Amino acid sequence: MKYWDTYDNFEAAEQCWDTAAKEAESSHPLKILRHLPTMPGITADTARNLKWKSLKYLIKHDEKRILPRHFFKHPIQYTRAFIKSLLKNKPFTRDGDFFYYGIQNENAFKEKIKSSKALLVVGFSYCHKPFECPSGRFTDACIHAVENPVCKQCFIGKAVHALPSHATILYIPTIHYIGEKIFELTHKHPDKEIFFLITACEMTLQMFGDWGNMVGAKGIGVRLDGRICNTMQAFELSEKGIKPGLTVVHTDTQRRMLELIKHIRNQRAPF
Ligand code: SF4
Repeated sequence: MKYWDTYDNFEAAEQCWDTAAKEAESSHPLKILRHLPTMPGITADTARNLKWKSLKYLIKHDEKRILPRHFFKHPIQYTRAFIKSLLKNKPFTRDGDFFYYGIQNENAFKEKIKSSKALLVVGFSYCHKPFECPSGRFTDACIHAVENPVCKQCFIGKAVHALPSHATILYIPTIHYIGEKIFELTHKHPDKEIFFLITACEMTLQMFGDWGNMVGAKGIGVRLDGRICNTMQAFELSEKGIKPGLTVVHTDTQRRMLELIKHIRNQRAPF
């Protein structure tokens, strides 16, 4: 049972969640980022030939042969969509921390997600799990236990409990993991259209947008702040679980995500 399901309206649930989070903060304070570092989303050196670097990385580190296994199910369709995306200057349009892929804005997302053919996929990058996460940081697990004082203070926990039950939720340890999941969902539900809401560093949002466009997944990438990966070296270490820093969803962006979640929840299961 989701925490939000036990309340009559979204706001009441959020207020109670936030009050309990504050109590948990006093009794079990977490290691948090006291100040947001000022750093570019991608360093100038890394930004050079980024599309080529991402292609090289994906192929070189594809130990499970995810790309060839799925790509050859629809080679012509995928090649066409991939080239179309490559030819664009950027694979997304951006409004603050929201990066739009195949849709124009949040309103378009809200409109599209109403359809019974829409499949909502919400993903959280592991790097903004708290250091104290009971499921471990570099994993695809999340117990989001209401009684756990760490989960209570975690934005992922809050968002998961606010999300409607029809959402497919993923906790993302690596880029190949999310790529495989999106491929699997696409092939498992050929009659559905995937709409995603996924948190990631700016560099990842930029690097792998073409691949999302290739499978026709549409949606919103949410930029993470804090100790992000902005070089290939940091990114590659992070993909192996070496991520000593913490990323965060900016407070304003958390609000924006929750407003979107509230809208989606009310569309299908109005309070
Ligand atoms: S809600 Fe999930 S990600 Fe957050 S601390 Fe709990 S188990 Fe970890």
